[in-house]
Amino acid sequence: MRWLTAVMLGLLPVSGTLAAQEPADEETLDIYVIDVEGGEATLFVAPSGESMLVDAGWPGFDGRDADRIAAVAADAGIDEIDYLVVTHFHTDHMGGAHQLIARLPVRTFLDHGETVDEGERQLAAFDRYVDLRESADHRVVAPGDTIPLGDIQVTMLSSHGEVLDTPLPGAGAPNYFCDDFDFHGSEITSRYGDAEDQRSLSAHLGFGAFRTVIMGDLTWNKEYPLMCPNNKIGRVDLYLVSHHGSDTSGAEALVRALAPRAAVMNNGPRKGGALHTFASLGRAPTIEDLWQNHYSIPAGSLNAPEQFIANLQDFASADDEDAVHTGPSAWIKISARRDGSFTITNSRNGHSKTYPQN
Ligand SMILES: [Zn+2]
Ligand SMILES: [Zn+2]
Repeated sequence: MRWLTAVMLGLLPVSGTLAAQEPADEETLDIYVIDVEGGEATLFVAPSGESMLVDAGWPGFDGRDADRIAAVAADAGIDEIDYLVVTHFHTDHMGGAHQLIARLPVRTFLDHGETVDEGERQLAAFDRYVDLRESADHRVVAPGDTIPLGDIQVTMLSSHGEVLDTPLPGAGAPNYFCDDFDFHGSEITSRYGDAEDQRSLSAHLGFGAFRTVIMGDLTWNKEYPLMCPNNKIGRVDLYLVSHHGSDTSGAEALVRALAPRAAVMNNGPRKGGALHTFASLGRAPTIEDLWQNHYSIPAGSLNAPEQFIANLQDFASADDEDAVHTGPSAWIKISARRDGSFTITNSRNGHSKTYPQN
């Protein structure tokens, strides 16, 4: 009804979208959360055009994930990646790198150094990745390191199991959510093969007053030294949900203390998107909306309303656990402004919401 009234009053063009109302010349940090079916690939593009891709999705499927990343890069108007951050050496993060560089050149690879996985298959995949990173600039990063990305402040929070020593500027307040912190036992964490996960790179990005974090698969237990007893990160506007929404990441001591206004989850139809995570995000009073790049089959009624989900359930394959989704996919785009306001858009349906300056 509001829409109809606006059209009748001549406030909006009939074919307009909410995004079209933004001033065209306003500089934004654009963040694309790309659906790679339960892997990770998130593209950050500074107003200068400099870019940082965090992870490259899965290998195989005829370059499905590399094609999806390339589609987003085309939307963003970039034809190379300045930094490829490989958060850790799991296939769903590192695996798509070879197919990616056949489509988009990567200038610098950033990672945590050497894998700690010992399986034959994992070591062979890591060796192939090492060949790739040696073909470009490569840098091993440590907590506290900064990455030059135009006028975006990128600070590494963790790497290879180490976390930031001193709080970020303005952060460091006591974190009351630490009182109830409950460590996950090793029998749980080993089931998920978390030796690599807990070594994930994670980063904080600041653009003017806007703040966000991206944490790869950093584990619940590793969130503790970052957030407890004092919150070394401070508050953020946007939480890019850790570890695909798995319940071995995303403790309340992290999520509640970050106090984001919106969250975006990179779950797959059956990967990540744990019930516990949906429930915990739902309880966080500061989070107005959860956006998802994929419908989560196990989460059922806890999924966000359909307009907040980029890729809906494929009903034909809902009962087939081995079904593979191929072809293009929709994405979630966040455009952040220096005043701390940001707009999130679902590329599937153009649904868009602006979160005002705090
Ligand atoms: Zn992962
Ligand atoms: Zn992982």
